[in-house]
Amino acid sequence: MNKSPIDSKTAGQRNEKLVLNLLKQHKQLSQAQLCKLAGLGSSTASYIVGRLRNKGFILETPGQSKNRGAKPVILSLNPHGRFIIGIEINPNNILIGLFDFNCRLVEDIKIFLGTDNVPEKIVELLEINLLGLIGKHKIDQQKLLGIGVTLSGSVSPDGLVELSSPLGWKNVPLKTMLSSQFNCMIEVHPTRVRLLAEFNITPELSTKNILYLNVANGVGATVFMEGRLIAGSTGRCGELGHIIVDPNGPLCGCGHKGCLEAFISGPALTKKIKTEISEGRQTILANLIKDEDNPEVVINKWGNALKKNDAFALEIRNYVGNFLSKIASAAINCYDPDTLVVAGYVTIPCFEYLANAIKTRFESDLYDDSSRSIEIIPACAGKNALITGVAASVLENSIKNR
Ligand SMILES: [Zn+2]
Repeated sequence: MNKSPIDSKTAGQRNEKLVLNLLKQHKQLSQAQLCKLAGLGSSTASYIVGRLRNKGFILETPGQSKNRGAKPVILSLNPHGRFIIGIEINPNNILIGLFDFNCRLVEDIKIFLGTDNVPEKIVELLEINLLGLIGKHKIDQQKLLGIGVTLSGSVSPDGLVELSSPLGWKNVPLKTMLSSQFNCMIEVHPTRVRLLAEFNITPELSTKNILYLNVANGVGATVFMEGRLIAGSTGRCGELGHIIVDPNGPLCGCGHKGCLEAFISGPALTKKIKTEISEGRQTILANLIKDEDNPEVVINKWGNALKKNDAFALEIRNYVGNFLSKIASAAINCYDPDTLVVAGYVTIPCFEYLANAIKTRFESDLYDDSSRSIEIIPACAGKNALITGVAASVLENSIKNR
């Protein structure tokens, strides 16, 4: 039976995506390797490769050959064939990254915000700065594959920011607002996409079952199981930071008392450190911190004090280790990961200690510890994890066959 023109168009697009996906995965392939991996005949593969080359998606370069005669042609994604924008929106700043087709950062810019974070103003700032960034690199808007935005909060699959306590946003149709300004694929995600930045650096990680623990301005986990990120029925999977560890504890940003986040997040630790110093606690941190209020800076100074074995700094480290290891064990009992990725600026000064504190608790707190083998590793993606992760999501979804 003959296929209808619509069927063959769909099949053609599917094959194009299949080839792009294989090139993304393998970086470089000869046409023979591509045919084998894609299960395509050589004439079909040549036709698809030709179409992708004409659209600027792929590069063909001469490869090496031990034999005389024609050298094989090596296919790869054209890094300048398409570009992606990754955006992170925080209460104090916006980070915008321009990424090439290999999801490598071309340039990032940081825009500092005032106290007025209304969504309309943020969208306006995004439009101006984004157009400025692609204009600077002489990128035609047609070459923009998509824009990914990530922020701390709950986001519906259609890009509605249902709640972001740090930004003070409720029911903001961010994707719709951006779609009226940009004619390309737009995705809005909560911060769990940051794990995709780790896969960008270490692709083998994507074959693991991962619990990614992040301790920074907030405390939370990303759960990656059996090959996919788990969102849950309302997108709130992994909210470990809001497990109540002491009902009489400090007030958390979510409105409850004594959440883990209210004890060990960067802002919570900063408050604890400054309060104890003001009450006369003797520590070298008093001089290092002085009037500093920025939690990231305070935590960095705490790291310096740890290196000097300051007794108070060590006490704070043990305090973090105690809470974190308790909740990590509870989460391992729930999710059964084989890999724990420890991330966030609070964990950077003492990763080894925290990894040991978590491991030490396995024997007492884990159900059937003997049958598990869990690796604990630090996150590697650094400050650009969120913009890289959300850009990786846009790239993956744009070339995924549905
Ligand atoms: Zn809370």
